[in-house]
Amino acid sequence: MFTIHMNRDTGIEDVVLRVMYCGIDHTDLHQIRGELTSNTKYPLVPGHEVVGEVVELGSEVKKFRVGDIVGVGGIVGSCGECSLCNSNLEQYCSHRILPYNAVYKDGTPTHGGFSSNMVVHQRFAVKIPEKLAPEQAAPLLCAGVTAYSPLKQWMGCNENVKGGIMGLGGVGHLGVKIAKAMGHHVTVISSSDKKRKEAMEDLNADAFLVSTDEDEMRTAANSLDYILDTIPVFHSLQSYLSLLKTQGKLILVGAPQQPLHIQAGDMILGKKTITGSFIGSMEEVQELLDFWAGKGMTTMIELVKMSYVNKAFERMEKNDVRYRFVLDVAGSNLE
Ligand code: NAP
Ligand code: ZN
Repeated sequence: MFTIHMNRDTGIEDVVLRVMYCGIDHTDLHQIRGELTSNTKYPLVPGHEVVGEVVELGSEVKKFRVGDIVGVGGIVGSCGECSLCNSNLEQYCSHRILPYNAVYKDGTPTHGGFSSNMVVHQRFAVKIPEKLAPEQAAPLLCAGVTAYSPLKQWMGCNENVKGGIMGLGGVGHLGVKIAKAMGHHVTVISSSDKKRKEAMEDLNADAFLVSTDEDEMRTAANSLDYILDTIPVFHSLQSYLSLLKTQGKLILVGAPQQPLHIQAGDMILGKKTITGSFIGSMEEVQELLDFWAGKGMTTMIELVKMSYVNKAFERMEKNDVRYRFVLDVAGSNLE
C-alpha cells in the first residue's frame, strides 16, 4: 500500500517536503480500484491532501523557505501557458498533472503523499497559515476547496441563499462549514438518520433531510437554491432535483462510476442547471486556508497511523468515518 519514496529529482523550481500528514479522500479509494479511469497503474502511491515541512529548495524557489509548512492538493502540474493556466483555472488545463497515477512532462510517474517525502513544483504548493495545525489543514487541500470553489463562484457570501449539502463525509462536512461561514441556510441531505444529531449540533446545520424519507423530501420540495452533491456511488437525481427552486443549481462533485439518471422534464419545467466542479485553483486553496485560519474554523478528523490505512479505507467504504481520516505519516516510522 505504501512506499518510502522520493517521487523525482529536485528541479530548480521544486520544493522537497518531509511529509507530515496526508488526508484520505474517497477519490483515493476510487483510484486504487480503477473506478475513475480504466488505466490505474500499479504500484500506486495515493494521497493528495499532503502537508509537509520544506527540507530542501531548488535554486530558483522564492516562494518558500526551509522549515515552512506547506500543502499539496489535487494537482501537481499544468502547462503554465494556456488561457486556463493564466486565469487561475489551472485545474482544468488539458495538461494538468495529477499527484499520482499520472506522469510528469519527462515521463516519470507521479506519486502521492502516502510517502515519507515528496518533490513538487513551487507553483503547486501553498503555505499553511501558522494559526492552523498542520493535520487540520490536510483535508482543506482537496475536500475543502472542492466545496469552496463552486460555492464561492456561484453563491458567494449571502444570507439569502438556501443550500443543500448531500452526503456528510469528508467533502460534505467541510461543505457544511464553508456554506455556514458564507452565511447560507444549510440543509444536510443524508442517506440515513444516523448523522442528524451531529449535523445539527456539531456542524451547526439548519436542517436535516433523510433522502429515503418521502414525506420529508416532499415537504422540502422547491426550497433550495443549490445542492452540492458529494455522493460517491450511483444515485438517481430525480428526487434531489425536486428539492431545488426554479433556476436552482445541482453541483456535482462526487464522482460515481456509473452514469446518473435525469428526467428532462425535471430540468425543463424548473429551468434547473446541473453542473460539475473539480477541486479549486491554487489561488483558491490558499484563499480557503487563510479564510479558515482567519475565522478559527476546525476540520473534524480522525488521525491514524499508516498501519491503519487499509482499515481506514474499509471504514470509509462502509460510511463509517467522522469525517476525514488523516494519516500521521511522519509519526508512522516509514524510514
Ligand atoms: P466520503 O468521506 O466517503 O463521503 C461520502 C458520503 O456520501 C458519505 O459520508 C455518505 O454520507 C454518502 N454516501 C451515500 N451513499 C454512500 C455509499 N453507498 N457509500 C459511501 N458513502 C455514501 O467521500 P469524500 O471523500 O467526501 O468524497 C465524496 C466524493 O467526491 C467521491 O466520489 C470523491 O471521489 C469525490 N471528490 C471529488 C472532488 C472533485 O474535485 N470534484 C474532490 C474530492 C472528492 P451520508 O451518510 O450523509 O449519506
Ligand atoms: Zn494550461
